[in-house]
Amino acid sequence: MYVTLSKKYTAFIIFVLVLFFLWACFYAAGGVVSVSENSAEQKDFIKWVDFNIPERALTRAYKADVEAHENGKESNWIEVLAYCAAKNGGGENSFPDKDIDYAVSQLEGGVSAEELSQNLKYYDYYYEAYSAVLSGLVGEYEIQVYDENESSHKKWVKKYGLKGFHPIAKNYWYTESDDFGNSRSYGYKRKHLGHDMMGSIGTPIIAVESGVVDTMGWNMYGGWRIGIRSFDGKRYYYYAHLRKDSPYPMELKEGCVVSAGDVIGYMGMTGYSTQENVNNMNVCHLHFGLQLIFDESQKEGNGEIWIDVYELTKFLSKNRSETYKNESTGERERVYAIDDPAVQEE
Ligand SMILES: [Zn+2]
Repeated sequence: MYVTLSKKYTAFIIFVLVLFFLWACFYAAGGVVSVSENSAEQKDFIKWVDFNIPERALTRAYKADVEAHENGKESNWIEVLAYCAAKNGGGENSFPDKDIDYAVSQLEGGVSAEELSQNLKYYDYYYEAYSAVLSGLVGEYEIQVYDENESSHKKWVKKYGLKGFHPIAKNYWYTESDDFGNSRSYGYKRKHLGHDMMGSIGTPIIAVESGVVDTMGWNMYGGWRIGIRSFDGKRYYYYAHLRKDSPYPMELKEGCVVSAGDVIGYMGMTGYSTQENVNNMNVCHLHFGLQLIFDESQKEGNGEIWIDVYELTKFLSKNRSETYKNESTGERERVYAIDDPAVQEE
């Protein structure tokens, strides 16, 4: 009796175990299938970028690019910087002069970027990441200059080089420090995802790159702010805390196309208020931010990539847009118009 029962009991236990095992296998297989389905759905795009290139390295690679171009050679500054990052890990010490100069000499000598980077696993990542940051800043363009022979006349000249501008107009003072990632507490505890430049109320704010005005108006953190998207969609430039009462040039609207170097706003101290048009910042300054967007899902929310633009802004200080006061409108306007091919392609 007992023997029979225990045999039946054992058989029952084994049956249950087998059922459990089969269920577990099925579940695991199902799990594997659903994981692979998820990863198949996930598009392959860059999720994070640390932008650590020092101004010295940006300038050295940039100058070599322009010089090569003038001599009918090729030395793409983004390829050079991606080579250094892929070779040395991408930190701020990854860009020694000797590596920049080596990559420049190879590219100028006719070696292709593919050949130069063939043993560097992360080259493609750095090239794509740095292209997203830098590709709108250097290229061919036409700009007005004053005619040496007839000083009141402006003429157009063709150039190759830096066509991106510093966000503060020429002849206006500003002070700055490397403040990316500092903590901020208004609203909620968070990191400072941009770069502040202190200056005077009304200082003209300049479009760094040509693009489309994506966002204007009040934001409880940024106050009067303006967001400009590059034509390739990869960069969102954010300029905040603009002047109370008259933050923007009057004719500027969402959807307008602006050229690099245009006046897009005036420095102020608005923000940190749910009520519109309030000066709640302690110090007059521009908050300048740069967001990278590889996939539209990264535009807003947890996937946002804001990079440290302190070194980039120092690099851009080589090129500042000069402005004058238009007496009929009272607005400040740029002195030298630019013809950026990126705008014509739109
Ligand atoms: Zn700020």
